[in-house]
Amino acid sequence: MRRLVSLLGLGALAGGVVLLLAGVGAGARAGREVEVRLFVGRYEFSPPRVSVQAGDRVTFRIRSRDVTHGFAVEGTSIEATVLPGREARVTVPAARAGKLRFRCSVICGPLHPFMVGELVVEPNRWPLWGGALMLLVGFLASAGAARGAPRADLTRWRPVRWLLRRRALQFALILPNLAIFTLIVLAGLLGTATGATNFSTIFVWIAWWGLLVLVLIPLGGRLWCAMCPIPAPGEWLARGAIVGHRARPLGLGRPWPRRLQSLWPAFGALLLLVLFGLVVTTRPLVTALLLLGFTVLALATHLVFERRVFCRYVCPVGGLIGVYSLLAPLELRARDLAVCRECRAKACFRGGDAYPCPTFQFPGGGMARNTYCVLCTECLKACPYDNVALRLRPFGADLAVARGRRADEAWLALLLVGTALAHSVIKLGPWGFIKSWADLEAAGPFLLYAGLFLGVVVGALPALHLAVAWLSRMFAGARAVPVRRLFVDYAYALLPLGLGAWMAFTLAVVAPNLSYVPRVLSDPFGWGWDLFGTRATTWTWVPLRALPWAQLALLLAGLWGSVRAARTIVGQVLGEARARCGLVPVAGFLVALAWGFAVLYFG
Ligand code: SF4
Ligand code: SF4
Repeated sequence: MRRLVSLLGLGALAGGVVLLLAGVGAGARAGREVEVRLFVGRYEFSPPRVSVQAGDRVTFRIRSRDVTHGFAVEGTSIEATVLPGREARVTVPAARAGKLRFRCSVICGPLHPFMVGELVVEPNRWPLWGGALMLLVGFLASAGAARGAPRADLTRWRPVRWLLRRRALQFALILPNLAIFTLIVLAGLLGTATGATNFSTIFVWIAWWGLLVLVLIPLGGRLWCAMCPIPAPGEWLARGAIVGHRARPLGLGRPWPRRLQSLWPAFGALLLLVLFGLVVTTRPLVTALLLLGFTVLALATHLVFERRVFCRYVCPVGGLIGVYSLLAPLELRARDLAVCRECRAKACFRGGDAYPCPTFQFPGGGMARNTYCVLCTECLKACPYDNVALRLRPFGADLAVARGRRADEAWLALLLVGTALAHSVIKLGPWGFIKSWADLEAAGPFLLYAGLFLGVVVGALPALHLAVAWLSRMFAGARAVPVRRLFVDYAYALLPLGLGAWMAFTLAVVAPNLSYVPRVLSDPFGWGWDLFGTRATTWTWVPLRALPWAQLALLLAGLWGSVRAARTIVGQVLGEARARCGLVPVAGFLVALAWGFAVLYFG
């Protein structure tokens, strides 16, 4: 079997080289003059994909079927306005093979930010190049399990320790976010219904979401939870204090029902959120009501139940951040567990001069993973032995922790990969009919879309993952290991690729729509104000030339992390002697998934 695995690996490598060589020679030739009649209407171009040959000059004759639209080619300064009843002519030189995206550049309705079309210049071999790169990265990453690396204790530095021990720190982080949150809700309730010109949708789904996925999660894990305004009012009310420490909280402090003590409530909430994602992210009123709903629910749970159960079990964003925080290069842990064993107070868990851990974590009891630590720093303030440390560490360190892997977390990891795939198709793809199905325009098409969405995200993808677990067991000849355990443990290897895919998706949504941020700063309600003189900010589309490459780089980084994690996990579950055989189907699945994303970006 080992020989077979080595042969498969070498075959993959050779295939990669052949594909790479096949990509060479996609040069330009003397081209034709091509004329394309293009119709635009809410929210698609028809035809949505146009194919030409490298070297052609493409003249688009564009007509609008409804309102005024724009036509802008990403990565170029080519842009035109398409008025109803008049034909606009735009010439695009298709010099090089590859894919160019064009998009509407005049706000035309709620789904305007996702109104895109594609110009495919043949012979487009970039998906093959992408596939070859995936194979190479997968093969190289599979060599040898990841080893532990030293941590850097940030709390050894006095200023950091001093800052983290301040009771006012969290309040200072939350306060500006609470002000922005209030403006978001007001703008959503009172402002224009057009998402692209309302502070509510632009700040939540472009500015905040971009910052969260591209910066905060990959670098800080659950850092956002330390400054999130949603649980703050409930927490302050339940504690009876905003900054200070009050020993007897005002809330009822009932225990959260045992049956709900898992991430399944967050899984359900996240599933609903992504299913209705297109409606939620493009309608200011829906965004505002959703945030208000979360706040009321958080307030109610704070007043009735003990600690921060909303963040621990219910919040869909908390679930998402929680599983991806396993990858973050930041951790909060007890410095020396020998000290904890001698400690009677266990103040990090029970509280003392500070509040008990709001998410029931116990650093002194060997808390080994980031998933539920909201970085509130209460344990750091409570510990009488100064034995809690905030440390820098290698990316993905928690994936190697074998103890405590759970089915609810595994399903969340799968849900997030499936959702990244589905949303990349819906929001970044050129197919207008899928967008209108997902936009709840009519009940029948929406139900069809919901069936397809759920079929892929909670049906086909987990079934494939299960098949991979079964194949891995068969390749390794380890029939005694339950497939259920492999299903759960292997799902953790999907996390780096899932995060890479979410980052790539987010970059492609945020970058072309960044110009709306300065616009809504000047005119948050869409009432025609120009507070800072930035209401007319425009975007030339030129910097977007590098976007697919940045997406590919994020995907490759995710794939690298996933295959490395898979190598470690397979070794833990099946034993080092069988790890190479057991890894083949898992790594193959990861490469195939990554390639699927690459085809969406380049194909
Ligand atoms: S209070 Fe400090 S010393 Fe005691 S168990 Fe917690 S981290 Fe360890
Ligand atoms: S008390 Fe400590 S372990 Fe608990 S959430 Fe806050 S920072 Fe994390």
